[in-house]
Amino acid sequence: MPPLDSGSELGAFSRYVLPYKAQRGPDTGMSDRRPPGTGLEDATVLVTGGAGFIGSHLTAALLPETDVRVLDDFSTGEPSKIPDGAAVFRADIRNEDALDRAMADVDVVFHLAAVVSVEQSVSNPIESHRVNVDGTLAVLERARREDARVVVASSAAVYGDPDELPVDETAATDPLSPYGADKLAADTYARVCADAYDLPVAVLRFFNVYGPGQRGPYSGVVDAFLQRAFADDPLVIHGDGEQTRDFVHVADVVRTLLAAASTADTGRAFNVGTGESVSINELADVVRDATGTSAGVEHVDARPGDIRESRADCTRLRDRLGVAPDVSLREGIGDLVAHRRSRDAGERPERLQ
Ligand code: NAD
Repeated sequence: MPPLDSGSELGAFSRYVLPYKAQRGPDTGMSDRRPPGTGLEDATVLVTGGAGFIGSHLTAALLPETDVRVLDDFSTGEPSKIPDGAAVFRADIRNEDALDRAMADVDVVFHLAAVVSVEQSVSNPIESHRVNVDGTLAVLERARREDARVVVASSAAVYGDPDELPVDETAATDPLSPYGADKLAADTYARVCADAYDLPVAVLRFFNVYGPGQRGPYSGVVDAFLQRAFADDPLVIHGDGEQTRDFVHVADVVRTLLAAASTADTGRAFNVGTGESVSINELADVVRDATGTSAGVEHVDARPGDIRESRADCTRLRDRLGVAPDVSLREGIGDLVAHRRSRDAGERPERLQ
């Protein structure tokens, strides 16, 4: 696999994403967020979905000190995202032999592999159920055999449209899509396995994660806006744009994943957001300011099933996991823009396909 050098998609953001390797120079102007270590230096770790957006950042944060394996079928992830040093199992999570081999003698599994597209889950709910639910159960079952700890990627989608904001982990769950239903089932299985088998499992309900390396048709609104803004195309907003989201930077998510791998407080779910929300109209303003684009916005039909308001209550995250997300949206987007500018220096901006 190619190394994560400064010209790679992730490399320029290494001060966020690889905080454990003293990547941040004194000239960055960023506050020092470097924890003492990952705490997993002596562990054998499996990252399912390690070629994806969040998984590749996590893998990069763990290497080279930790023995890291990645299991991924590259359906949305890319081999080039996996940093040097990881042992790669190219396989579907449902492939029992491959999962057995990847999980042999592991200490910790970060289970991130999933069909992440709501649209795909709507068009093929059986397939997404098999990957997202059966795949998670298969990981949990092997973790039981291996006596391994598991950190499961769940989602704010389990809440659907919450009755009250901010939404805490005890709020009613009422998913609006097959994807949300899958995540709720996986989240529930994980907590049930923790209880029934005394398995050390932590469940992380990610809100809207953004950051470098997030690409593709289902990558989310931040990447979509940036691509349009760099091409000076109008930013496309579904509906009136007053729907709100809690955007959390992937560096804060990686810190949370690592904290979840060592917490004594297992068997429960944790929201992973910032506790702040912005409307999509406000996000468009932040992106337009950061890029300086002259393009405006274009409102199109609202997406059916789109959640209206979303904001995490991060009390449990802060008090029990000891994580306080600290990359502001303006800072995170400003950094994405700066990186993109340096990467594209001398090149014409890519247009959205
Ligand atoms: P991603 O699509 O970039 O990563 C998912 C990875 O899983 C990809 O590398 C893909 O190739 C792999 N994968 C998919 N199906 C697989 C299968 N059957 N077998 C093996 N590998 C498979 O998505 P991401 O944003 O990095 O999401 C990681 C996790 O976090 C997912 O579980 C997702 O549901 C969850 N999550 C993400 C967000 C977000 O905002 N990005 C929000 C909530 C929850």
